[in-house]
Parts: sequence; structure tokens; C-alpha cells
Amino acid sequence: MSVRVRIAPSPTGYLHVGTARAALYNYLFARHHNGVFILRSDDTDTERSTQEFSDDIVASMRWLGLEWDEGIIVGGPHETYRQSERLGRYQEVAAGLVEAGKAYYSFATPEQLETFRNEARREGMSPAYDGRYKVSPAEAEERLRTGESATVRFAVPRPGETVFEDVVRDEVRFDHVQVDDFVILRSNGTPTYHLASTVDDVDFEITHVIRGEDLLSSTPKHILLTEAMGAEPPTYAHLPLLMGPDGKKLSKRHGHTALAAYRDAGYLADAVVNYLALLGWNPGDDDTVVDRAAMIERFELDRVSKNPAIFDAVKLEWMNGVYIRGMNADAFIATVTPLVEEDLGRALTADERAVLAEMAPLVQERAKKLTEIAPQMRFLFAEISYDETSWQKVMAKPDAGRAIRSAREVLARLDDFSTNSVEHALRGMLETEGLNPRKGFQPLRVALSGSSVSPPLFESVAALGKDRTLARLDAAAVAIDAAS
Ligand code: GLU
Repeated sequence: MSVRVRIAPSPTGYLHVGTARAALYNYLFARHHNGVFILRSDDTDTERSTQEFSDDIVASMRWLGLEWDEGIIVGGPHETYRQSERLGRYQEVAAGLVEAGKAYYSFATPEQLETFRNEARREGMSPAYDGRYKVSPAEAEERLRTGESATVRFAVPRPGETVFEDVVRDEVRFDHVQVDDFVILRSNGTPTYHLASTVDDVDFEITHVIRGEDLLSSTPKHILLTEAMGAEPPTYAHLPLLMGPDGKKLSKRHGHTALAAYRDAGYLADAVVNYLALLGWNPGDDDTVVDRAAMIERFELDRVSKNPAIFDAVKLEWMNGVYIRGMNADAFIATVTPLVEEDLGRALTADERAVLAEMAPLVQERAKKLTEIAPQMRFLFAEISYDETSWQKVMAKPDAGRAIRSAREVLARLDDFSTNSVEHALRGMLETEGLNPRKGFQPLRVALSGSSVSPPLFESVAALGKDRTLARLDAAAVAIDAAS
């Protein structure tokens, strides 16, 4: 039997990092076993589902490189993979279960259910609805004929117990006292998540359901439904919850929770994939940087931990830096050129492209996010303005003007404006002026780039060239005089 797994996001929100982690684990498991990875759309909630969210899910999956073999957009033998287009199928299954006595039309009112729950709680019993208001099939038929509306509930066998072997959590037991006679079809004929998801998993021949632990308590319902449909339940693997570094459930307080926000904030897909992979899975040694091929080769569900996984935005940023540094020079230049051009609002000239290529490795070494790069290179291609914090920290200090004027003097004398020659001249300036590198060089950085955060100084001076360097030093000297 070949592996068939699925990810089933609901387009009622942007693709969440937790869902992305589950998608990745399904993808890795499928690729490891040469199986099939399916993208289904759980879009039965028509009121909250939107095209925008649906597009975001598809775009985010593609950005991560989690290509699916069957599902929405790409199609497949079980088409359609959209729940909203399978309503007839769910109704048919529900009717079959009623017919077989495994489900029933329920006329229990919300008030009755509320009373039942309150009483159960008062008596210290499970508030899971046990079907006590169930009516006979004949009465049900009669009431339906007179136009009364009813939900369809699954008749959970009582007493009873559902036991299953979860790949991550080992043996899991649910006494049916804790499982209510759950609704499978609402009175308006729409399926609940339990019904739609289970019917799809059966129809699409899913072999392994790999999903978040928040759905663990739904699993006995899905197993009961699957068996009632006469099918073999899949293997379940419930992934540990994601927490913030403070041990609380992952939320916006801990950083972005929408995956696309990381793309927009300058993260590389490979870095995000690598980081998500480690949220609960141990590749087998202390490796933290694992490429996709190695992940596919090594991925095993039984190496997934039961313990909550900590989503640490700082660690993700670190890992992104590792991946940025790992890009080859050409790929890096190809990635940053459009970012720089977008930032400038114009195309770079051939000469400017050469400057960019020369400076790129210096920026690449230090960047943690792609979004940092264009602002750091802007001074090479556009007029500058002084960053307020840098000005206060550096230019408002006593020796700044002296360093700038002295640097201007030594650089003006240079014919050779290469990095080495610039370095030699500027180090000489430090000595003559009796300044340490911080006091002597920081003002030059701010004068040339507008900011104290910029690529290395000597290379920057060489890249700017003599004319622009002298002009910026002059302008800074004037600005300092004006400010003092
Ligand atoms: N639509 C469900 C969700 O997004 C799918 C859960 C499942 O994998 O069964 O939570």
C-alpha cells in the first residue's frame, strides 16, 4: 500500500505557521516513502472562506516548495478536492449511516442540550451528549414529514472505548463517556468538519493523517465514522503544539503567525522550511542546518517528539542569516538586484550593477533578512539623508567634524582609489589625528551612507568613487557646523 497523505487547510485565514509545519511534515513523509501528497480545501464554511485566503494558501505552499501531487488546482483521480463541491457526497454518506442505524435524526433543542450539560457538570459527570433525547426512527420520520428540522448525529456506541496507536503519542484511549453523539450534518444539510474530513480521508484513500495535536480529541469521532463507513481507519500522527519561547500557545505576540509575513519580511523559503522541520522533529543528530534532500531522506514520524515545540523568531532569523550566507554569489546577486531596483524605483545601469556585484558579498555576510539589503546599499545609488539615531550617536560627538575634514584631505590627495589605497590613507589619518577607529571611522560611515549601519568602510569609499566621496564628506562637514 503506498502512502497517501493530505493537508487540509480551511481558507478562513492566511496559512498559519502551524499548518505550514503540518504541511511540511506530510510532504516530507510522502516524499520519503515515494507516496502521494494531497492539498485539499476544507471550505465548507462558506461564510468565512474567501478567495484571498485560498490564494494565500496556494501561494504560500508554492513559495515553500511544497508541491502537491493531487488536490486543488492540480486535480487528480479523486477530483474535486474542494469540500464545498462535495456536499452531495456527505449527505449521501449521512443518509447511509442513518439507514444503517449508525446515525440518527436528532430533534434535541439547544435548551435541552444545555440543561443536560449543566446537570452533568453539577453531578460531576461528563458533559458529552449521550443521545438521551433520541426518538424512534418512526417518530423521526413522522416529524421530518411534518417539516420539523433536525440535525444528523452519530450514534456513539455506549458503553465503549476507542483506542488507537498514534505514531507520535503512542497508545491513545478515549472512553466514549467523553465523546458526544456528535453532529455530522447540520439542519441546513451542510456537513460538519468531522463528517466532511472523514469522508474525504476515506474517499481519497488517505493512509496517514498527520496533523496538529489540537485535533486529537476529534480523532475517536473520525475513527468511529470511518469504521461505520466500512473502511479501515488511517494511521494517525498528532504533532506537538507550537508554543512561544514563554511556553504559551503561539500567537501574534511571539511574531508573525501568517506564513506569508515571513516571505514579505525577507526570509528565504529554504530557511523557513528548515526551521519548521525542526519544530518537533529531530533529524537524528545535532544538525540544525539540514537541506531538503537530507530532510526527505531522514524524515521519520517516529522521530517526532511529543513535547511542545518552541517557535523562536530569533532562532528563525539566525537560520535565515545562515541560508543567506549559504547562497552562491550569483544567486545572491540575482535575488538582491530586483530588491535594490524596487527600493530605488528605477533600473540599475551597467556600471551600478558592477558596483552591486562588488559590494554584494560584504552585505551578504552580515544580512539576516533580505529586506535589510536594499536599505544598506541605497547610498551607493542614490542621494543620502542622515538617519537621526546615527546622527545623534556619531555626528553630534566632538571629534566627528575633525575626522571628516581630515579624511577629506587625505582622500583628496589619492589618485589610486582602490580599497587598499583608501584603507592605507584612512589609517594614516587616524594616526595623525590620534583617533581610535570607532571615533575616526564612524563619522565617515555616517557621512557617506547616512547611517552607522552600512557595509565596510574602505570598500564603500572605493565603490562610491572619489567625486562622490569628497562631496559627501564636504556636505557632512557643513551639516556638522550648522548643527553646532
Ligand atoms: N480543516 C482542518 C483544519 O484546518 C483540517 C484538519 C485535519 O487535518 O483534519 O484544522
